[in-house]
Parts: sequence; C-alpha cells; structure tokens
Amino acid sequence: MGKVIAIASGKGGVGKTTIAANLGIELAKYGKKVLLLDADLPMPNLAMLMGVRETSSTLNELLAGEKDIKKAIYKTYNVTLLPSDTSLEKFVEVKMDNFGAIMKALKGQYDFILVDTPPGLNEYTLEALSVADEILLVVTPDDFSVADAVKLKTAASSMQLEIKRMLINRVPKGGGLLKRGSSKAKKPHAIVTQLGAEILGAIPDDKNVGEATHQRKPVVAYKPKCDASKAFRVIARRLLKVLA
Ligand code: ADP
Ligand code: MG
Repeated sequence: MGKVIAIASGKGGVGKTTIAANLGIELAKYGKKVLLLDADLPMPNLAMLMGVRETSSTLNELLAGEKDIKKAIYKTYNVTLLPSDTSLEKFVEVKMDNFGAIMKALKGQYDFILVDTPPGLNEYTLEALSVADEILLVVTPDDFSVADAVKLKTAASSMQLEIKRMLINRVPKGGGLLKRGSSKAKKPHAIVTQLGAEILGAIPDDKNVGEATHQRKPVVAYKPKCDASKAFRVIARRLLKVLA
C-alpha cells in the first residue's frame, strides 16, 4: 500500500506546491512510483508548475463520479500528476464525498501519493489531512506562518490527526537561521517549541525557485545543483528513511 503524504500549511504562499512538485520528482529518482495529487481545489496550480497545459479531465471529474482515473492522469518528470480544474465553474460544483474512495483506489497503485492542499482550515484541507498517513506542515520562518501552522495543527489534533514533522521553507541565506541574532527570521528552536513538531528539513530562500516557477519548471529540473534543489534531495532521502 502506498503512503499518502499531505503537504499542508496554515498560511498561504509558503511553498506547498513547490515542495510537492520537487519532493515528488526526487522521490521518483529512487525508483518510487509517485503520484502528485492537486487537492488545492479552490486554487490549483500544480499542473502549471509541472508544465502540464491541457488538462481535459481532472480530479473534479473524478469527484463528480467519473470512474476512469486514467483519463485524469498525466505523466511528467517521471511522476504521475492528477490535477484539479482551474476554472471557477468546475470549482463551484465540487463535492468532496467521493474523495476517500478515490484515494483508496489510488493508494494501491503508487508508493507515494503527495497531496498538495489549500492553505488554512477548510473542508478540502481537512478532507486531505484525514486520508494522509503523514502530514508535512510547511512553515516559513516568520510569526504569522508559524501562528497559522499552530492553529492548523490544533485543528488536526482535534480530529485525532497527528502532525509529527514540518519543513521550514525560505530560510534566509548565510545561516540566518543558525547564527543567533543575525537575521529577523525565527530561529528553528523557537519554531519547534511553538509548533511541537520536529524539523524534517529546511529549504533555503533561493532565487532559482522563483525563476523556475516563472518558466513553469520545478527547480530540481531547472537548476539541479542550486541550494534549493540540494535541499529537496536531502529531504527526499530523509523522508524515505522515516517512512520506511
Ligand atoms: P503555496 O503552494 O504554499 O501557496 P507556492 O509553492 O505556490 O506556495 O510558492 C509561493 C511562491 O513562493 C512561488 O512564487 C514560489 O516560487 C516561491 N517560493 C517557494 N519556495 C521558495 C524558496 N525556497 N525560495 C524562493 N522562492 C520560493
Ligand atoms: Mg499551492
């Protein structure tokens, strides 16, 4: 049975989609069968980041009752992508009732299913978290992001969902996180104390990520040797270890 890993955050724009895409591609390099599922139904953009343009059938059709999953999946960068529809018309029709059954059908076919979720507390996020084997909480090293993550973690906990690990994204360069007093960024020990989750990894703030996004490419494909790409490789290795 595959492992479902939900990539979640309290605050928006902290890097969930970026992490899902790049971590997925790195896990596939270990010979793992990886599915990237865009469960950010309100604002899906994983397909765009993966350079997939035409998405005739999507998660929206599966939720609406389409049974043929093959119609909604796309191969890219050695992973499989199951996108959501970007139109407002399709979004307003979405009902999550079939989500659990779809996940059950998918679980048998992949080693890892990375689920990109919307930020905050809403039915789409909570539905995705409830089917996950592992919830990776993404924070940036600032007060708002961490405070919002605490709220999401508390909500998850009230649903008996444990969040054990987090990723700190957009860590300032030059050891800003490590050198005491050298940066305005929150220090990792402060984030760990506030959130009560262990750090699975940290990803530096790297201009190559923005450039890659602009080119509709995941950074590990665009600049495999840059600092952010190196971090994604390390995190993929650690994830394989802790979930083994
Ligand atoms: P979310 O899915 O949480 O809303 P995204 O993955 O869409 O966040 O990222 C938001 C923006 O931040 C994007 O423009 C992305 O390129 C940028 N970004 C994400 N991670 C990094 C990073 N490590 N360094 C620099 N820019 C980043
Ligand atoms: Mg996103």
